[in-house]
Amino acid sequence: MNLENLRKVDNEVAEQIDLELKRQQENIELIASENFTSLAVMEACGSVLTNKYAEGKPHKRYYNGCEHIDIIEEIAQKRACELFGMDHANVQPHSGAQANMAVFMATLKPGDRVLSMDLSNGGHLSHGSPVNFSGLYYDVAGYGINENGEIDYDNVREMAIKHKPKLIICGASNYSKIIDFKKFREIADEVGALLLADIAHIAGLVAAGIHPSPAPYCDFVTTTTHKSLRGPRGGIIMCKEEYAKDIDKAVFPGLQGGPLEHIIAGKAVALKEAMQPEFKEYAKQIVKNAKALAQGLLDEGLDIVGGMTENHLMTLDLRKTGKTGKDMANVLERVGITANKNTVPNDPQSPFVTSGIRLGTPAVTTRGFKEEDMRQVAKIIATAIFSSDNENVLADLRKDSLELCKKHPLYS
Ligand SMILES: *Cc1c(COP(=O)(O)O)cnc(C)c1O
Repeated sequence: MNLENLRKVDNEVAEQIDLELKRQQENIELIASENFTSLAVMEACGSVLTNKYAEGKPHKRYYNGCEHIDIIEEIAQKRACELFGMDHANVQPHSGAQANMAVFMATLKPGDRVLSMDLSNGGHLSHGSPVNFSGLYYDVAGYGINENGEIDYDNVREMAIKHKPKLIICGASNYSKIIDFKKFREIADEVGALLLADIAHIAGLVAAGIHPSPAPYCDFVTTTTHKSLRGPRGGIIMCKEEYAKDIDKAVFPGLQGGPLEHIIAGKAVALKEAMQPEFKEYAKQIVKNAKALAQGLLDEGLDIVGGMTENHLMTLDLRKTGKTGKDMANVLERVGITANKNTVPNDPQSPFVTSGIRLGTPAVTTRGFKEEDMRQVAKIIATAIFSSDNENVLADLRKDSLELCKKHPLYS
């Protein structure tokens, strides 16, 4: 990467960027929420657009000199609507959590009821966790997953009838099955609730038509742009036309100040990339790779929550191995595989220790891993877990993972 000027001004930071690049190149990235965005996206994000204040909306700004910014932001909005089939898009949210916060602000008053997936079952902090604004200011009930790792829609319906939420949220950070948006719509209609689909994790799959779209069924769709969608770090809110004004007002002046127009440009570029035929192939390969990884792990005798995955991620259930998520995520790091510890349903361990590890394939698929590579990755993971005390074995596995990384170079 060209850091010519940075190196002269601040070598301390430049050096760490170099090292981070090397870390990304030489490790197998299985954190399900991460990806490697394109050089084109990074060029847009690193551009002069960072200099511009543009509070407000395209053509209705509080600052002058927005004629180019306006066009860029409109391009991003138009592409988001086209790609996801929604009426309106606000591309200004700085992150996925901010996007969700804006939907809460646009639709609810403090104390109003919300029904969402519980965090420990795979939901997201911003869907109503007690330590997040969403749980602090709203009355949240949480649904979970059953022993098959699936949402129990009858239970969601019962809870909706009992709690009478004003807003129902579907979408998760750790759910390995296809989400039935139509069923959620039926439940929402039965109790007169609004429906938000947070597709942060599956956005790339939805964009490519690999996962059913929430658009026909949901009032609001939020997403991050940096996960399977492979764009810059940020959020987008989409909604039906009737909620457009409320959403825009909630984002600004409700929650944010000046939008990050350099990141919005990066979002526009990523959305264009996601419309290309190659992206569809990419998204298909993400799922093929996830299935190959899951099958490999099952063949090695490991358990996966809910068994075979239907999307891009899965959670290894370590309970029968007697090992913890925390320890094994550290062991995997030592053999060159990056992943995060995660709770499993009814986890006997605390959320800081856990009995699970979440694994996802969007990032490795970007660098060109295919099914055969995933089977090797499964072997490395299983061997590392079963031989976690054997230094020689771990050292050999580190060599194997490095070989795989060299086979599929990144940013080179
Ligand atoms: C990652 C994620 C978010 C939050 O995104 P940030 O950009 O980290 O704020 C929100 N919802 C879901 C379902 C997510 O997976």
